[in-house]
Amino acid sequence: MTHEQQVMNWIDEHQEEIITFLQQLIQIPSVNPWFFDEPAPSKEKELQQLISSKLEGLGAEIEMWEPDSDELKQYEGMAGYYPGRDFTGRPNLAGTFGKGTAGKSLLLFGHIDVVMAGSKWSVDPFEGTIIDGKMYGRGTVDMKGGVAAMIMAVEAVLRSGLKLKGPVVVGTVVDEEAGGMGALDFIHHGYRTDACILTEPTSLTIAPLCRGILWGKIRIQGRSGHIEMPQADWKDGGAVDAIKKARVILEAFDRLNERWAATKTHPYLSIPCQVHVAQLNAGEYPTSFANEAEIVFNAQYLPRERDEKLVGGNVKKELIEFIRETAMQDPWLSEHLPEIEWMVDADCAETDVAHPFVQTCVQSLKSVGEEGIIEGLGFHTDMGWPVNVGIPTINFGPGDPSLAHHSDEFIPLEELIQAVKMIAKTTIDWCGVEEA
Ligand SMILES: [Zn+2]
Repeated sequence: MTHEQQVMNWIDEHQEEIITFLQQLIQIPSVNPWFFDEPAPSKEKELQQLISSKLEGLGAEIEMWEPDSDELKQYEGMAGYYPGRDFTGRPNLAGTFGKGTAGKSLLLFGHIDVVMAGSKWSVDPFEGTIIDGKMYGRGTVDMKGGVAAMIMAVEAVLRSGLKLKGPVVVGTVVDEEAGGMGALDFIHHGYRTDACILTEPTSLTIAPLCRGILWGKIRIQGRSGHIEMPQADWKDGGAVDAIKKARVILEAFDRLNERWAATKTHPYLSIPCQVHVAQLNAGEYPTSFANEAEIVFNAQYLPRERDEKLVGGNVKKELIEFIRETAMQDPWLSEHLPEIEWMVDADCAETDVAHPFVQTCVQSLKSVGEEGIIEGLGFHTDMGWPVNVGIPTINFGPGDPSLAHHSDEFIPLEELIQAVKMIAKTTIDWCGVEEA
C-alpha cells in the first residue's frame, strides 16, 4: 500500500471522528466580540484551548499568545491594523509538527471567530445538527469546516503511521470577522513557511487570489424646501433636491461600471470589479425636498491595483477623482462638493498559478476525484499577509462561501471529508513523508 492509500483509508475509516471534531468546534460559540453592543466575554480562547490540546495530543509544539495592538502600530495604514483593539482573552495559536525537519514546510491557516448567529435559524446555531448529510451551524462554512478539515488532515497523516519530512504549522487566529488583525499579528509573530493553505470555504476549488474591498460613504448636500411650492433658483436661495443630486452620482457610477466591466477583470474571476451601491439614505419627511443624501457603496479591487502599502489607496484616489469630476459638471455640486468617507479597506493578494505549490494543490484535488478547478474569490480573505511576506498561498476549503453569515449555514459532510483528503494529500506531496 502506498503512503497515500494508507492515509486515504484512515480518512475513510474515521469519518465519524472528523465529523464529531467539527461538531465540537461549532459547539463553542466563538462569536467575535465586535458583534456585541455590550462587551461580552469572548469564547475564542475556549476554542483555541480545545484546538491546542488536540494538536498537543498529536505531538505538536504549541505556542499561544495574545496579540498586542500597541506592538502592531508599525503597520498603521496597512491591512488588518486597527488601533487600540483589545485582545485580552483572545489568543492566536500555532502548533508546529516536525519542527526543524529539512523538507518543505506548510502553513495550514484559518480563523476561529464567527459572526453572530442572527435570527431565523430552524436549528440551534451552536449544536452542529446533522440533517441529510449536512451539518448546520454558525461557522460550519465560515470557517470551522476548513479548520476541522486541516487539523484532521494532519491527524490522518500522523495516525496512519507516517512521519513528516518537512514542518507543518497549524495556525488558528482570532478576529478575522472584524478586520483581520489576528492574521496580521500571526505573521508579525514570525511564522514563515514555504507555502500556505488558507482553508476558507471555496466549494472545493483552488482560489489563488482574493479581491480587495472598499466600503465608502458619499454625502451629498441639498437644501430643504416645501416640495409642493414653487421654488426660486438655488442661487437665490431656492430648494435643492439632494436625491436628484445623488442621482447624478448614481448615473455616473453606471457609466464607470461599464468601463470597469471591460478593464477591471481577471482571468480567474467570473465577475469584474464594480461600484455597487449598498445603501441609500435621504430625506426627512414627505413635504420637503431632501436636505442631504447618503450613498453607501462597495467597490472591489484587484491585487494588481494595490498601492505601496499593499491596500486600496490607488482605487480610492481614482474614485475620489471620478466623483469630483462628476460633481464639477453640475453647477450646484461643483459648489457643494460631495464628501467621501472611507469605512473599510480589506486587502487582497494573488499567487501565480504557475507556482509549483498551486500545481501540487491542483493535482491533489484531482487525485481525490474532483475536477481541480482554479477560481479566484470575489470577497476578501486573510491571505494578504502570508503573501505579503512571500508565502505562496491558496484558499481552499469545504462549503459554499455564499452561505457564510447566513441563517441555517450548512456544510455537506461529503465536502468536509473531501477537503480532509485533499489537504492530507497536499501535505504528503509537498512536505514529504516516511514510515514513522
Ligand atoms: Zn471566513
